[in-house]
Amino acid sequence: MDYDKGGKEKDTYTESEVEQVSCPFCRTDKFRNLYTERGALGVVRCLGCGLIYVNPRLKNPEKVYWGEAEKYFDEAKLIFYGKAKHHRDQNYLEDLKRIKQYKPSGRFLDIGTNMGFFLRMAKGGSWDLYGVEPSPSLSELARKYFGLNVKTAYLEAAGFESNYFDVITLTDVFEHIADPGKMLNEIKRILKPDGVLFIKVPNGLFNLFKLKLAQLTGRLKNYDLFDSYEHVVHYSSSLLEKMLKKHGFKIIDQDIGSPIQLPVWHNYVGSYYQYPSPWRLDYKRQTARRLLFYLSKIEFYLSGKRVGYLAPNIIAIARKES
Ligand SMILES: [Zn+2]
Repeated sequence: MDYDKGGKEKDTYTESEVEQVSCPFCRTDKFRNLYTERGALGVVRCLGCGLIYVNPRLKNPEKVYWGEAEKYFDEAKLIFYGKAKHHRDQNYLEDLKRIKQYKPSGRFLDIGTNMGFFLRMAKGGSWDLYGVEPSPSLSELARKYFGLNVKTAYLEAAGFESNYFDVITLTDVFEHIADPGKMLNEIKRILKPDGVLFIKVPNGLFNLFKLKLAQLTGRLKNYDLFDSYEHVVHYSSSLLEKMLKKHGFKIIDQDIGSPIQLPVWHNYVGSYYQYPSPWRLDYKRQTARRLLFYLSKIEFYLSGKRVGYLAPNIIAIARKES
């Protein structure tokens, strides 16, 4: 069913909307094709370093988020008015609790603030909150409705002082970044020597697992396994660790966060409302996500804290290498 949405993504892309890119990590041009999504988006594995990334990819994948403010507002108005929860609020609280264990106060920067749903949950504590978000409409909504201190800019153009932040977060953002090395260099510059970097990304191996399962059961649809119109890199925990290491960070803790229970309102009403959907409307998927999450935790601890194929996401807490 078609529904009105805030984002500007399309169901099908043509050759003229995409570009060929080399591996975002090792810059190799040799790759193996794994899958094609939405007409012209390729999911490939780099033959140099093993990274799964999107090639060809959209020319400016972040601009999918440059939709109209009114449409974004409509998808979340009850949240802006304080009358409904966001479907990710439980995930946000879990993330903040974890960050607090490492850095309970100080300057806190959320990169890719979106409409401020994550950052708003950190209000009222001992952190001094900052956001940076390139989408003009999303950053405007975050300032207007949540009173957040959000700059409309790409991180590299935001002009933050060196050694300024105690906490920097990338919550479901890093996988959208086409040049992750460049971003990590800037984070290294603005993070204090004892500061903490929190990264949460979808688990690329889980996407591979879903792809295999879909191929085996003959249920392969032509899009939405990898969300590759917006997710341009699909990290495994080992590739994420290698990338952080190359740019001067060391991981001090790794874990798996609870799955995101995506709302299903758009299947019933004409809008992608961001409120949690009632269990009975989506109990099969909600239960499956929970079950896989528990299995992934078992897999994680049995393998000596390695994020395997069943985990919905990867959480890495890192510090600057001294
Ligand atoms: Zn590579």
